[in-house]
Amino acid sequence: MPATVFTIANQKGGVGKTTTAITLAAALANKEIATLVVDLDPQANATSGLGIEKEEGQSIYGPITGEGSILDHIVETNVKNLSLVPSEVDLAAAEIELAQKPDYLLQLREAIRPVVESDRYRVIILDCPPALGLLSMNSLAAADYLLIALQCEYLALEGLGQILKVVDRLHEAEINRTLAIGGIVMTMFDVRTNLSRQVVEEVRTHLPHLIFDTVIPRTVRLSEAPSFGQTIFDYDRMNPGATAYKNLAVE
Ligand code: ATP
Ligand code: MG
Repeated sequence: MPATVFTIANQKGGVGKTTTAITLAAALANKEIATLVVDLDPQANATSGLGIEKEEGQSIYGPITGEGSILDHIVETNVKNLSLVPSEVDLAAAEIELAQKPDYLLQLREAIRPVVESDRYRVIILDCPPALGLLSMNSLAAADYLLIALQCEYLALEGLGQILKVVDRLHEAEINRTLAIGGIVMTMFDVRTNLSRQVVEEVRTHLPHLIFDTVIPRTVRLSEAPSFGQTIFDYDRMNPGATAYKNLAVE
């Protein structure tokens, strides 16, 4: 059975995309679901957060520009059942290279095909940079589902329209007709503020079919874990953030 591909994309920075990518991936891996994270962000936060050293030539850069196979770019993490295609700064140049290809939106889909079609992974999670540039667009063209991380803050819904419009365009242009919205994950929910509650309510009212029941709490332990190269499940498994991401994995 081919792997299911999720992309965690949106143009807003610092909203919890990477935290969601690596923690959700680890939660799935802990459930014996073989999972691969592909770090598409030149910032390489998913890579360092999973405790992997950046290494020149190891990123997806080669495979998406037509050189080499993704199978040679996979590294194992410290988490059982969880592998990674790491990122490094070179990936920033990939946008320029991609722009020169005739099929500039379909390069990633082609590049990941060998892992999608192999029986090695059931889930592939793409962690995108905070922009709807060519790397993110390629991820949307390659994915089965888009997961949207929305921070529980004022104007959270702003910008959502933009990415939903991009999804419509990809459908219309028949670049990826089957791309579905997997759901909206509300992140950094602060129990102490009314604002957090109001924002979740607003999204529930407007997009009841898209919002996940699970809301990710703001907890400092989730922000500390990556600096130790650990997921929350190894760093502080009783933390409410760990429980929330486990619930999200089930959903
Ligand atoms: P970028 O757009 O730069 O890629 P991002 O959308 O991937 O950012 P993260 O890197 O996951 O966002 O999160 C931004 C910051 O917020 C990080 O320092 C992260 O550790 C912290 N953070 C994320 N989720 C939580 C949370 N639930 N509680 C507390 N801190 C969090
Ligand atoms: Mg990120």
